[in-house]
Amino acid sequence: MKSAGKRPTAAECRAGRRATVRLFLGTGRRTRYGPSVPIFHECQRCTACCRWPGQVRLTEAEIARLADFLELGETEFIQRFTRLTHDRQGLALQEKPSGACVFLMGHDCSVQSVKPQQCRDFPNLWREAEAENQCRAIPQTLGDEAYAQRVAQVTGRTVEAVREILGSRQRTECHSPSRSG
Ligand code: SF4
Ligand code: SF4
Repeated sequence: MKSAGKRPTAAECRAGRRATVRLFLGTGRRTRYGPSVPIFHECQRCTACCRWPGQVRLTEAEIARLADFLELGETEFIQRFTRLTHDRQGLALQEKPSGACVFLMGHDCSVQSVKPQQCRDFPNLWREAEAENQCRAIPQTLGDEAYAQRVAQVTGRTVEAVREILGSRQRTECHSPSRSG
């Protein structure tokens, strides 16, 4: 999944609070009325998130894994498939002229088994308000334990790591000055 790297503005946060059951992908919960309910999003592999503007950041380990998968040296992989991130602090996957990720082939990710963590984390661990209109993931209401296990299963993270990420997000949601615009 490509991220535009945008965070919700204060106005978006306020709008989110006003909405009846406003559901931001990645918060994993809806809380407006009644008890907080975990919501798991089942990806439908529509690949819309591989086509919209943004970037897929890469860690060194991900570069090594992708290069190995493609039977390339890391230097060749970097030259052929990466570019500088928008903030010029790291590397991201290149895009095709259409804007789609360089590894999107038809309606499939050609590096599915070794795709970057950022791609694995979307949509359940991302908070992309704009993505709600385009993502076809199907929301499912789950119990807390089943929810953490399903997110861990699709992201490849441990259940403990998922709980930590979501717990941290819910503590800071819409309250961090760094998210105010
Ligand atoms: S690496 Fe695969 S899942 Fe990630 S954006 Fe590219 S095509 Fe999509
Ligand atoms: S359903 Fe959502 S997360 Fe899955 S491929 Fe489509 S846009 Fe991406």
